[in-house]
This record gives sequence, structure tokens and C-alpha cells, in this order.
Amino acid sequence: MCWKLWVNSLRELKRNAIESIQRFAPVKELHRPVLQKIPEDKLVTLSYYQIDDYLTCPLKYKYVNILRVPIMEHHTVIYGRAMHEAVSQYLLRKLNGSKFTLDELLDCFEASFDPQGFLDANHQDERFRIGREALVRFYKDEEARSQVPKFIEKDFSFVIGNNKISGRFDRIDMEKDGAVVMDFKTSAIKTQKDADKRVKENKQLALYAMAYQYVFGVLPVAVELYFLESGIIGRHELDEEDLDDVKEDILEVSAGIRQQNYPAKPEYKACTYCAYNQICPSAVIR
Ligand code: SF4
Repeated sequence: MCWKLWVNSLRELKRNAIESIQRFAPVKELHRPVLQKIPEDKLVTLSYYQIDDYLTCPLKYKYVNILRVPIMEHHTVIYGRAMHEAVSQYLLRKLNGSKFTLDELLDCFEASFDPQGFLDANHQDERFRIGREALVRFYKDEEARSQVPKFIEKDFSFVIGNNKISGRFDRIDMEKDGAVVMDFKTSAIKTQKDADKRVKENKQLALYAMAYQYVFGVLPVAVELYFLESGIIGRHELDEEDLDDVKEDILEVSAGIRQQNYPAKPEYKACTYCAYNQICPSAVIR
């Protein structure tokens, strides 16, 4: 190799090495932006997911909501969204009094099923098969149910203190004693006891119950989680005390955001499931 070529290839090697180091180095700039504190007379707008992100780890909230660092979606999110879309379309038709066939339901799932993020082709096929089976069961159960939903995919927003909370109810049914707020989940739950426990502990549903109370002036009689893969519906009958923790959460998150306070809160479980654990300098796992 001539001298000039050798020098060029050395430079090329060096440049590649520097690029690699830069690419995989902790993203220092992510902590740098100077953010202005939010005055008390301005509304802070929050969704359930933002509240949950901040409580899990304020730095995660910053990555998602302020820096908007792009991430590759997890396959459970892609699968869950396709299931949710199919179920919502079916229920919207039911609400409007028109027929949605099983084939239409399965076609809707297939059209929404984005084949990305799965571990391999077998994993993708397996999730697709499980989703179809769950929807066939859902269709039979729902066709046998005389109850027609009152609302499907209904947006809400309400103001509490100097905070605006917004979100969307998956489904609301009216029973003899009042409303039931339901959310659909694709997580694997196998017993009624586990399903009921999950509902009781579910902060998202407590927040949605609070939203219902603000919007309609009365607390719903119950909240429910419909676990689509098993067909089990967990239920919890609420009272005012169920909302106390939610109010505290809103105040804590809002106070932190007003101060633009986003410290890392590294914990094994939080970091394991955090989409930013490969770039976050505080992650406790890699
Ligand atoms: S990896 Fe851990 S510490 Fe870093 S943002 Fe995510 S949850 Fe927070």
C-alpha cells in the first residue's frame, strides 16, 4: 500500500471510531436545555400517560414529552393498538345500530397490525394468531350481550386546580345505578381474582373515574378492565376515597413540571422497561 493510501485509510479508521464513540456516548445535550419555570397562573396540561411517566422517572418524562427523543415502538404497543382499533371499530358500529361482521373485525385487526418490532417472523405470526383468536371470542361474547355502549372513544378534559387533565374513555356503559367506565387491555390475566385486583390498583381507571365525575357531575358506579386475550372483565366499585391518591399524584407531578425538575429516578424495574435505557446515562441496566 502506498504511503498516501495508508494515511487515508488510517484517517478513515479514526473517523469511524470517533463516530462510533459519539453515537454510543451518553447523550449529554439531553440534559442541557434551559427550561423556564411555569408560573402558577398558567395551566399545566397532563394526560394519564404523562403523569405515569413522571412518577416512574421524571427524566423519562423529559425524554418523552420535552426532548421528544424518537424511539422504536415495542411490539406489545403495536399489537395492543391493532387489537384496540378492531374492538373500537366494532363497538362504534354497535353503538350506531349497524352490523359489523366477524370478517370485518378480523380484517380491521389485520389492516392495523403493523409488522414491526417483533422478535422474529415466528413471534409475529404467534401474536397475530393469538390476536385473531381473542377477537373471535370477543365477537361471540359481545354479540351475545344485549348491552349497547353509551360512549366509545370519548375524549374528555377537565380542570383541577391550575391543571388541565385530558384523555379518552375507551368505553362507557350505563347500568341501572349509573355509569361503568371500561378500558381494554391485552395483558395476560387468567383469573377473575387477578383481574379484579388489577382494576382496584389501576390508577388510570381511578383518574378516568375522576374525569367522569368532573364531566358528568357524578361518580361512575364502577370501573372495569376488559382483558381481551382471556375475555375476563375485572371490576371495582368505587368511592370518593379511591380518587385521593390520584389527586395527590396530579399535584406532585404538576409541581415538579412547574419547577422543570426532571431528576433521574433509576430503579431496576423502571429502567428495564424504559425505552431510553440505551441512551440514558443514569440507567441501572444495559
Ligand atoms: S433508563 Fe431509568 S433512569 Fe433513565 S430515564 Fe429510563 S427509567 Fe429513568
